[in-house]
Amino acid sequence: MSASAPGTLGLGRFIIASISVGSHLNDVKIHVLPSGPIQTNGYLLTDAKLGEAVLVDAPGDIMAKIKPLLAKEGCALKELWLTHGHWDHMQDAAAVKRETGAQVRAHVADQEMIETPEKMEEFMGARLGLTGVKVDAWVAQGDRLTALGRVFEVRHVPGHCAGNVLFYSAVAPGSGGPAVGVALVGDALFKAGVGRWDFPGGSFDVLANSIRQQIYTLPDDTVVFSGHGPRTTVGDEKRTNPYVPLEAEEPSK
Ligand SMILES: [Zn+2]
Ligand SMILES: [Zn+2]
Repeated sequence: MSASAPGTLGLGRFIIASISVGSHLNDVKIHVLPSGPIQTNGYLLTDAKLGEAVLVDAPGDIMAKIKPLLAKEGCALKELWLTHGHWDHMQDAAAVKRETGAQVRAHVADQEMIETPEKMEEFMGARLGLTGVKVDAWVAQGDRLTALGRVFEVRHVPGHCAGNVLFYSAVAPGSGGPAVGVALVGDALFKAGVGRWDFPGGSFDVLANSIRQQIYTLPDDTVVFSGHGPRTTVGDEKRTNPYVPLEAEEPSK
């Protein structure tokens, strides 16, 4: 069934590459860690030379997965960036913050879901025993976060929910060697798919605009890391995404 899938889902852990980035050619490894009840991708970015790490999203049980990776690479987790507030992306956030002291960043539009997730549980009609996490700093469109010796640009991509953001880091000019831009996009865009827009705060028109204006405007070879499923590239989705083609077919209503 999934034999032809180009990603490496199911392996549990995948080190995509050593990527030459930043002003001092540090290598950032991106560990793809599908975790929790619905296999949400958490991404641990490590730089062994700097001894630093950033975690993007905290699905259930991810603390147990990142602990040995951090130890192996000699990295301290400095930051936890939440792409959005849905429970499957923040289920382990409180544990990660408690055990590592990482600074938590997210978009304020999802404050309620992140800090008081029991409201999400009511909506789901299920009790997951979610624990909220206090956000240390809110991020917004255009913010530039410095971490791992490089700059990550924040882009607001609402539509799946009100507070979905992506974290984009461009190819560093003159870095030499293999280098690639990366965008960690949460549930805005998937390989051949887009995020659901039928949850509270969701809207297909808003989502399509976000994808066209904030993701399709990135360089074509930017590697897109989504909240679920395999990675893709901006160029591939511009050419083939069945939900949001590059050009809108008709003006939105
Ligand atoms: Zn979501
Ligand atoms: Zn999700």
